[in-house]
Amino acid sequence: MVQLSKRLQMVAGFVEENAVLADIGSDHAYLPTYLVKKGVIKKAIAGEVVKGPYESAVKNVQRENVSDQITVRLANGLQAIQKEDGVTTVTIAGMGGPLIAKILEEGKALLSSVKRLVTQPNIHAVSIRDWATQNGWYIVDEKILKEDDKIYEIVVLEKGRKEYTALERLLGPVLMEEKNAVFHEKWQREVKQWKQILKSLEEASEETSIQEKKAQLLKQISEVEEVLKE
Ligand code: SAM
Repeated sequence: MVQLSKRLQMVAGFVEENAVLADIGSDHAYLPTYLVKKGVIKKAIAGEVVKGPYESAVKNVQRENVSDQITVRLANGLQAIQKEDGVTTVTIAGMGGPLIAKILEEGKALLSSVKRLVTQPNIHAVSIRDWATQNGWYIVDEKILKEDDKIYEIVVLEKGRKEYTALERLLGPVLMEEKNAVFHEKWQREVKQWKQILKSLEEASEETSIQEKKAQLLKQISEVEEVLKE
């Protein structure tokens, strides 16, 4: 049985029973293999754009005897999905938020049968929340977790419109409500970095753009500190 990391296990937990899955950026096809072997899903596409990782996905799928259920495709982003697949859930994990948002933006025409997007950005989850808001998806759930000293977020989207403030898009509406210890750790770290940037800007010129940047950072710091102390 494929053993998943805590991070991928949490992503897997958001894939519903009998979903038709497309896992994009599926370097070893671990996630679809785990879900098929556990009997959660019967059919999946594993999409990978780089040849080496694509080949290891193919090998793993063969070794685990799940070739009938999992189709591995060498493709860029959502182009791994074909209409006849009837994909209902897409997972995109282990990349930066801006890259995940780019993949979603470039392939949004291929999302017509998709009901749920499970995204796991390593950094800048805000890009995904921005993309969702602009494209008719809303946040159904979120998680923040720490593994091997790294902090990860998971943002789960379904179709529908909801308005979020800039602060909610930055922190995550569900995560800022829950405010667990990992959330505190992440944002305390960020605030510390912003304060350092602010300090270096204090010594910089009085140019309008720098003044604006300073004002924006100050606002962000005070808003996030407010959430952390509540
Ligand atoms: N999803 C796995 C996980 O979370 O452990 C693998 C993460 S790995 C760091 C990211 C993978 O995404 C790499 O294998 C990379 O080649 C692939 N990737 C990056 N951009 C992609 C794209 N546009 N389309 C498909 N795969 C992509």
